[in-house]
Amino acid sequence: MSVELSVVLPVYNEEANVPEVYRRLVAVLEGAAVPFEIVFVDDGSRDRTWTLVRELAANDRQVRGLSFSRNFGHQMAFAAGLDAARGRCVVVMDADLQDPPELIPTLLAKHREGYEVVYAVRTRRAGESAFKRWTAAAFYRLLRRITQVEIPVDTGDFRLMGSQALAAFRKLPERHRFTRGLVAWLGFSQIGVPYERPARQAGESSYPLRKMLRFAGDGITSFSHVPLQVATWLGVVVASLSTAYLLLFGILRLASVRLPASTALIAVVLVVSGVQLVTIGLLGQYVGRIYDEVKRRPLYLVRESVGGPEAAP
Ligand code: UDP
Ligand code: MG
Repeated sequence: MSVELSVVLPVYNEEANVPEVYRRLVAVLEGAAVPFEIVFVDDGSRDRTWTLVRELAANDRQVRGLSFSRNFGHQMAFAAGLDAARGRCVVVMDADLQDPPELIPTLLAKHREGYEVVYAVRTRRAGESAFKRWTAAAFYRLLRRITQVEIPVDTGDFRLMGSQALAAFRKLPERHRFTRGLVAWLGFSQIGVPYERPARQAGESSYPLRKMLRFAGDGITSFSHVPLQVATWLGVVVASLSTAYLLLFGILRLASVRLPASTALIAVVLVVSGVQLVTIGLLGQYVGRIYDEVKRRPLYLVRESVGGPEAAP
């Protein structure tokens, strides 16, 4: 029997959530009466996550699992899950039950109405700090202003993708992945479905500020050249100011007004070199990413995979 729906879950140190998310998924999917599979992508967990996934796969043919050779990150786990999925459509969700499985029938219904991509939009976020909510809101609004791609505001990676979107997504080779932007870039018909995002069921978020910043950097650099343009404009502004200053200085000299030259000079030098450093840094952000892309390393390495029809005893 062909699989209609694959549910992909990246898991990293989620031993406390795997059994519960599995239970709730099975309840929902059996209720929806679609042939399904559940694909866990273990992103190099250091707890018992992989053991639990293996046990589930041993007892239930609808469960499959991949385990990475190390922690490659959420976005890579997402890519691996989509590569491995066999369903005609795929739902990707977090395993910490912040993305409620009960929303899947709604996503499916929208897909059946003809939408190729159905993404879940967070209307409220429980259990996340005001700082996280605020920075996320600001970031998505900034991103919207500086990109040409219409990246929907307040969406995570919880979404359903149909077969066309899936085939297109699998062709994207890039390393620095900002998945929600990439999916928006695909086009096709897309629609959002609102939901309230509950707090994490157990365990801790593995997105500390440092990772969030890097992720935000990937989002901006892979969808916008605006920072590079800002560098150019800064250069133009500073160059014109310095020219104006020089002219003024010349005129005052001609009018034989005596000025202490050194203080002004130091200020100008500091401003100009500051601008130069900032712009070089910006350039570096892009150059580093170009370097990572041209190395053409595989996105992830799989250490072990379990489950699926061919793994029958
Ligand atoms: N995750 C992953 N690799 C990582 C970090 C997280 O696969 O390096 C998974 C994690 O197990 C969860 C999902 O990605 O299923 C979202 O992570 P988390 O809940 O920590 O992020 P948040 O919801 O706080 O943004
Ligand atoms: Mg979470």
